[in-house]
Formats: sequence, structure tokens, C-alpha cells
Amino acid sequence: MKIIANAGLCSGHARCAAVSPDIFTLTDDGYIGFAERDVTPAEEALARRGVRACPERALTLVEDSAADMV
Ligand code: SF4
Repeated sequence: MKIIANAGLCSGHARCAAVSPDIFTLTDDGYIGFAERDVTPAEEALARRGVRACPERALTLVEDSAADMV
């Protein structure tokens, strides 16, 4: 699983980082700090909550597909 972040939609609410500052790292200005980030199995529950917490829908979860495992 990975998180895709659309910086153009991010408004810097930091609600994602409030769920998990380790997963949703922000820039010094308070905007999402990555375009794409892999999620470990241990992080999945918090990653889902953080993505849902974003009011701008700037975050998308992409599930691993079979193609990724080849
Ligand atoms: S909650 Fe959404 S809009 Fe707010 S900092 Fe995180 S990605 Fe950006």
C-alpha cells in the first residue's frame, strides 16, 4: 500500500499529521511533505485514518496490486 499526496490540493490543515506525524510528514510551512510514500503493514490502520481525515481529499491510498508483487 502507498499514499499518494496531491500537493496542489493540500491546504495545510495538518489533520493528517494530527493522526500520525510519523506517516504524514509536513513541510516547514505545514503542507504535506511528500508526493508518494510507501506504507508498511504496521502503519496501514493509521494511514487509512489520516487519509480519511484530509478535508481537501489531497491524499489517496493505493492498494498493492498483484503487479507490484511480480
Ligand atoms: S490534512 Fe490534507 S490538506 Fe491538511 S495537511 Fe494533510 S494533506 Fe494537506
